[in-house]
Amino acid sequence: MNKKISVGIIGGGIAGLSFANFLCNNNLFKIKIFEKKNTFRQNASGIQLSNNAIKILKTINFNNISEKKISIIKNIHIQDYKSNKSITNFSLNILNNSSEYICLDRDVLINFLLDRINVNVEISHKEAISIKDNSINFLDNSNEIFDYIVVADGIFSKIRKSLQNLDFLQSVNAIGFKGIIQNHKKLNIENLDLYLGDQKHFIFYPINSYGDFSFTSIFALQNSILNKDYENLVLDKDSLLSLSADANTDIKGIITSANSIYQWPIYKHKNIFFGERKIFIIGDAAHGMVPFQAQGAAQSVEDAFCLAKLFEKRIYEIDKFYKFRSSRISMINARSNLNLYAYHVSNLFLKKIRNFFMKIICNNKLLCNLYFGKIYNYKFKDLI
Ligand SMILES: Cc1cc2nc3c(=O)[nH]c(=O)nc-3n(C[C@H](O)[C@H](O)[C@H](O)COP(=O)(O)OP(=O)(O)OC[C@H]3O[C@@H](n4cnc5c(N)ncnc54)[C@H](O)[C@@H]3O)c2cc1C
Repeated sequence: MNKKISVGIIGGGIAGLSFANFLCNNNLFKIKIFEKKNTFRQNASGIQLSNNAIKILKTINFNNISEKKISIIKNIHIQDYKSNKSITNFSLNILNNSSEYICLDRDVLINFLLDRINVNVEISHKEAISIKDNSINFLDNSNEIFDYIVVADGIFSKIRKSLQNLDFLQSVNAIGFKGIIQNHKKLNIENLDLYLGDQKHFIFYPINSYGDFSFTSIFALQNSILNKDYENLVLDKDSLLSLSADANTDIKGIITSANSIYQWPIYKHKNIFFGERKIFIIGDAAHGMVPFQAQGAAQSVEDAFCLAKLFEKRIYEIDKFYKFRSSRISMINARSNLNLYAYHVSNLFLKKIRNFFMKIICNNKLLCNLYFGKIYNYKFKDLI
């Protein structure tokens, strides 16, 4: 029997675990995942998944997840942050090809990915610090050699930094706060509410049918307040309420009902880097983007799927991976950056223009499909 090809994955987030899933039934490969934390879970993190990611995840039986553990979104209701006044309603059934949009607890997705991993995959809770040739070096001074290495260690990727030896992180002077609310009494569990304010926005959505909801509150802030070490710092409700002083009563009520609130610094990468030689980089580590198009997780799934398809075909060329992924990532990055500006605009005249375009795009089937179809109706079967 031929010797198996060994693949070391650094990082057990959505990108790393998805990649392991897409390849674990292929007996050609022997996979080992290194996750630095002793858990794969994260604090208070709801996540939105659009059609492009759901279609890919369905190839590994994502549709078997109990409908109770997810929330199927039918409408995105865009409203004013201060007054609650409706700006427009984006009914997702306007999109062609029965696009699906779901929200869920990130841990539900992580558990699904972990449950499917089989004997071809080994898991080790060790922190990687660098890669030399084909060897991963760890914090505990050990090292392990692989035929190929897949780096999926997130937006602050130490491994990418050690390979490139340059600072690829770019602050966008914004900070996010996330929280989960349990047993909320909101009746409509098919709506995602997006509130747009001056230099801030707020998103609120159901994550299952048990009455649990997630919110994300994002503020433009001065550089001096930002510090990436603040990731996952717990914030008290009163501090978030005082930052949200001009919010409408719905938003204030949501913040007041939160269990715990966690802080997320918002960064993006200056450029895309998918790796070199036998080292492939996927997910946020390759192309950290601002979460304003809610595509970070979806693009991690797409990267993982595309790379797994290449590996299945025994194509181990970084150039090919670039060819399939870079223009799509650049397009989604540009959309996310546009939203960063559009969501936070405070000039009254510019707000009117923004609202006008939002109404036109969200209510016109043709325009809507042209604009969002490019992201959501991605023909993943043509990926390779
Ligand atoms: C406020 C906010 C809201 C968001 N909302 C959405 C949303 O609604 N929809 C969406 O699609 N995306 C959203 N995102 C983005 C999404 O969370 C990320 O794009 C996605 O999680 C990236 O997955 P990843 O696997 O690349 O990285 P991560 O999820 O960051 O996983 C990296 C993993 O690697 C591990 N690790 C790190 N360094 C090492 C090391 N040296 N050795 C070993 N292990 C290591 C980490 O512990 C972690 O488990 C949001 C992001 C933010 C900040």
